[in-house]
Amino acid sequence: MALRFYNTLTQELEVFKPLIGNTVRMYTCGPTVYNFVHIGNFRTFTFQDILRRWLRYRGYELNHVMNVTDVDDKIIVNAAKEGKTIEEYTAQFTKAFFEDAAQLRLEQPEHVSLATAHIPAMVDAIKKLSDKGFTYESEGSIYFRIAKFPEYGKLSHNDFSGIRAGARVDVDEYDKADARDFVLWKARKEGERYWETSFGEGRPGWHIECSAMAMEYLGDTLDIHAGGVDLTFPHHENEIAQSESITGKQFSRFWLHSEHLHIESQKMSKSLGNFFTLRDLLNMEYAPEAIRYLLAQVPYRKKLNFTFEGLKAATRSIERIRDFELRIQSARLEPGRNSEASDRAEEAIRRFEESMDDDLNTAEALAAVFEYVRATNTALDENAIKEENRWEAARVLEIFDKVFDVLSPSSSSVLISPSEIEAKIEERKNAKKERDFARADEIRGFLLERGVIIEDTKDGVRWKRK
Ligand SMILES: [Zn+2]
Repeated sequence: MALRFYNTLTQELEVFKPLIGNTVRMYTCGPTVYNFVHIGNFRTFTFQDILRRWLRYRGYELNHVMNVTDVDDKIIVNAAKEGKTIEEYTAQFTKAFFEDAAQLRLEQPEHVSLATAHIPAMVDAIKKLSDKGFTYESEGSIYFRIAKFPEYGKLSHNDFSGIRAGARVDVDEYDKADARDFVLWKARKEGERYWETSFGEGRPGWHIECSAMAMEYLGDTLDIHAGGVDLTFPHHENEIAQSESITGKQFSRFWLHSEHLHIESQKMSKSLGNFFTLRDLLNMEYAPEAIRYLLAQVPYRKKLNFTFEGLKAATRSIERIRDFELRIQSARLEPGRNSEASDRAEEAIRRFEESMDDDLNTAEALAAVFEYVRATNTALDENAIKEENRWEAARVLEIFDKVFDVLSPSSSSVLISPSEIEAKIEERKNAKKERDFARADEIRGFLLERGVIIEDTKDGVRWKRK
């Protein structure tokens, strides 16, 4: 069977091939860098990483663009609160995002594009829309007139024919009930970052950002556009309306959306106290590869229930495969080949490939690998594995790890162990004794960077993780 993806646009499982040649032109909505990215978002980014890896496994080249939203309503509010420019404010979280992504072994897209570095492309897109009569202006802001785009709603499969023409919405995020003309360009407000353009001072809306950058790097029609399911409406619906109104062509052939993540069967939220960033979990000393495994093991269109029990089980699953790898590498085997063992390896690879081709069914792909590991362990106990079977086993593990990438242990470079923390505190104490306060401050900063806060109390120094 050929590679198939479920396309949100057609609501069908469709055979996938790139439109032009062998290169997949793909756009994914990246992070909004107003804070550390939470584990729910990382589920989406992990799904996209698995997608990339599987497309390459199937022989395709990738031209993948991911944006970084570094100007939006939340960023402006947060930066102002801290008395920083939006550039200063977002730089720290952009850096943190890529550190986190590297910990989770997420491959870098071919292009990472910052919104603030592409304002001219957005201005150009808005001009084109306005030349074609898709926009109107009100109090310095420019809106997209959704009544001019009769196909509006085709991605989220909503019927918006009855909505009131001329009603508009200024915020970037809103729900279905709020479908109205959305903002392309926001007029300058006092104290906000703005850009000067021929249609006035202001800043772009979120939706035009993705349309403009996707088309700038990938052309009029993309092969795949992916994101979390909550972006389907309004964000992706609006991207389609903008892009197709400009070009008159289909914007993206495939739309792939990953489902939500729940924590211990509950919606993740700050008020429930179950809101986790990757750093929170690393600070609890879970290995990044266990988190990666847990995020990848549930097929992307199913809701993922993230539990600490599941995280422990993921750790054990990885250990089981690592133990098997070590065993098969170091076992003393007789020369020759056991054909039953060979068939088993071949069958495992066939099932793995078929499952991944079936809309990235990672759960089935993993089941194939574990069944193989279990049967081969039994065969090893019975001396039924020969020298040539060793290389077949290595091949099964290699294919597994090309996608899941959890076999090599992480060097926990961001983590710092309690004994290292104690050593640093001791060093700081000595620096203070020698009245080298600059050095003492430096050490405090070093620990803070690694998420460790130290407090001087009358009973000595205490530390805790952020
Ligand atoms: Zn987007």
